[in-house]
Amino acid sequence: VRLPGPTGLRARLLALLLVALAPLVLIIVLLAATAWTRIYSRAEDQAGQLARLAAASIADQIEGTRELLATLAVSDELAQPRSPTCSAFLAQVLATQPALLNVAVVDGSGWIVCSAVDPGRPVNVGDRSYFRLAMAGAPLAVGDYQVGRVTGRPTLNVAIPLGGPAGSPRGVLFAAISTQHLSDLLATADLPGGAAAVVVDRRGTIVARYPEPQTFVGRTGGSGTVIGALTAGANVPAVLPGIDGVSRLWAFAPVGDLAITGLRLAIGFDEAALTADALRSFGLALGLGTLVVVAALAFAWYGARRFVVGPLADLAAGARRLAGGDLAARVPVLDGGEIAELSSAFNEMAAALEERTVHLERLVAERTAALERSRRDAERARRAAEEAREAAEALRDQAERAREEAERAREEAERANAAKSEFLSRMSHELRTPLNAILGFAQLLDLDDLRRDQQEAVHHILSGGRHLHQLINDVLDISRIESGELRISTEPVDLRATVDEVARLLAPLAQERQVRLAWEDADGVVVADQQRLTQVLLNLVSNGIKYNRRGGQVRVAVEAAGDGAFRRIIVEDDGPGIPPALQARLFAPFERLGAERTEVQGTGLGLALSKALVEHMGGRMGVESEPGRGSRFWFELPAADAGVAARTPAPEPAEGIPATEHRGAILYIEDNPSNFRLIERALDRRPGIELIAAIQGRLGLELAREHHPNLILLDLHLPDLSGEEILARLKADPTTREIPVVILSAEAQPGLQRRLLDQGAAAFLVKPIDLRAFFELVDRYTESSSAEGSEEGDQ
Ligand code: ADP
Repeated sequence: VRLPGPTGLRARLLALLLVALAPLVLIIVLLAATAWTRIYSRAEDQAGQLARLAAASIADQIEGTRELLATLAVSDELAQPRSPTCSAFLAQVLATQPALLNVAVVDGSGWIVCSAVDPGRPVNVGDRSYFRLAMAGAPLAVGDYQVGRVTGRPTLNVAIPLGGPAGSPRGVLFAAISTQHLSDLLATADLPGGAAAVVVDRRGTIVARYPEPQTFVGRTGGSGTVIGALTAGANVPAVLPGIDGVSRLWAFAPVGDLAITGLRLAIGFDEAALTADALRSFGLALGLGTLVVVAALAFAWYGARRFVVGPLADLAAGARRLAGGDLAARVPVLDGGEIAELSSAFNEMAAALEERTVHLERLVAERTAALERSRRDAERARRAAEEAREAAEALRDQAERAREEAERAREEAERANAAKSEFLSRMSHELRTPLNAILGFAQLLDLDDLRRDQQEAVHHILSGGRHLHQLINDVLDISRIESGELRISTEPVDLRATVDEVARLLAPLAQERQVRLAWEDADGVVVADQQRLTQVLLNLVSNGIKYNRRGGQVRVAVEAAGDGAFRRIIVEDDGPGIPPALQARLFAPFERLGAERTEVQGTGLGLALSKALVEHMGGRMGVESEPGRGSRFWFELPAADAGVAARTPAPEPAEGIPATEHRGAILYIEDNPSNFRLIERALDRRPGIELIAAIQGRLGLELAREHHPNLILLDLHLPDLSGEEILARLKADPTTREIPVVILSAEAQPGLQRRLLDQGAAAFLVKPIDLRAFFELVDRYTESSSAEGSEEGDQ
């Protein structure tokens, strides 16, 4: 809670103290006020009492005077007032009355007839009030303030009537009381210092006063003064200024019977004198109180500093030192009390803090050391990791370089491979062209009637040429396999038919080598490329024949393998066998294992090619052999579902070429003269057929339109147009569209063949041309002139 006022602790303590002392002050003030009131009321009482006493003494004086007058009135001396003895008598009486200034008798007309003091002349007092009152029959008449006409001094006259014969007064006896005497009576009232007493007559004139009667008697006062109030009949004490201007507390009292005397008396206590004591004691009390308050405040101020603020400041300073890091900061502990408790709590806290901090510092130091250690470890690890990273980086770079090198090498190899493929295809093309002439003309010669030695020579040419042709084909296949370009189209193939065909083809070789071929249970259908399967089987069986002994046997068998999923074809021979050490090299290209030193012809490519082909068809190949006990080659191919229509190899045409009567025209578009010559010579066997030559493409197209031949033979390499272009134009021209076109080319790529066949070529003959296939096509597309053509077999 935020209190209004000062914020300092001491100031607050003082404020609290002041608040606590305020009632004390209030009490003092209240006490003072009460005392004040009491002083006034006491003064009122006292003044009232004194006033009544004083009034009584004046009334007594008047009464005494009346009694004197009454006594005198009945005396003999006054029986004859006009006698001189009367005046002497009264003079004697007066001498005994100090308060009186004169005693005299007045006749009914107001003339003084007998007087204690000799007036020396006739004096009339008929106008005076006492005379009139007394003459009116009042038993006692008190006059007003006056200056005596006889005495010449201020007096208050008292009169009684003197009885006459008819009951009405014959005169008046009066006594003049000295106002001085009356004032002296007031002086005897034992008034306190500064007090005043005053008596006024019914007209408001001062009759007696104390003190200083000479100054004030005979005067009248204003309405604001005590004289005014007295004249107006005030009877309740009041504070008013006196005739002398001094403010007093006045009490009032009538003098005797007011109706008779008409005198009123007031006694006033000087206010200043009245309150002086009270003020003095109040002042004393106030001074003492102030002193006490000041002392209390001073003590509180000092005590607060010494016992509260000081220790608190110490605590604050200690706390600040503590906050500033001085953990040794402690504060002095006073003996006992909450602050002492606070101080010792603070000290305990500081000690605990110090201890804790020391502990913490130790802990921090340990941790820091541990951290430093682990930081150093981490740094070492980081450096190691960095080194490892750099090493890895270096390795990665190396690997990258190696990869790049490998990539370069691969590209190089690919380039080399492509170059090799290019080279091989060019080479095979270049070789096929002369081979076409060699084998073509040899075949033609073979058809002719030759001498025996000539025929032998032709056979050598044919054998060598075919070997060369085989070599070219194998090399091309190997290179295609290596470059992944080998195309294989599988279909269900009948094994028995294939084995039969292979046996038929190899029968002459077997016969020549005196080796018997035997096969049984060669049943089954496999999924394979029919042509490639034949090639593999030809290879294995021909090897079995070639590497055999005279009179030996080659057995071909088929069995199920791989739980019926495969068919295993086995080719067994009775040859010398193959040592296990050499078996590993059997399927490597160009490996002949010493056979190259024998007269057995071979390329060393057959087995390598066969294995690759079998694997391309989803199968595998292997060998089991023991030297001296023959060899057993086998291969497995996926078995086809039973009952599918299996392909059988097309039977090779019979040996020899029948000479038949055919008519028609054949256009041969070819720029190579020897090739042309070969076809020209071959067609000698078909005399009814006219051969038209075109050594350029455009010429060929013209001649085709002009002659509309039965058949067009088309070479693919021509000086002006490509064979493909010529084929396209022929097929685009309505006049030539229907003419069958047979491609004769040294290009052996299967892709090219397929493309041209798709573009409308009737057939594709690869050079070197097999003449039997050639004649078959010629015969198919030309008109047969005689239905019953004679067979003209030369062989
Ligand atoms: P090529 O028969 O044209 O030499 P192959 O690849 O067909 O080539 O055979 C490689 C070599 O394996 C042959 O040269 C021969 O030494 C050996 N070889 C092949 N078949 C047999 C076999 N049935 N018996 C013994 N040796 C064989």
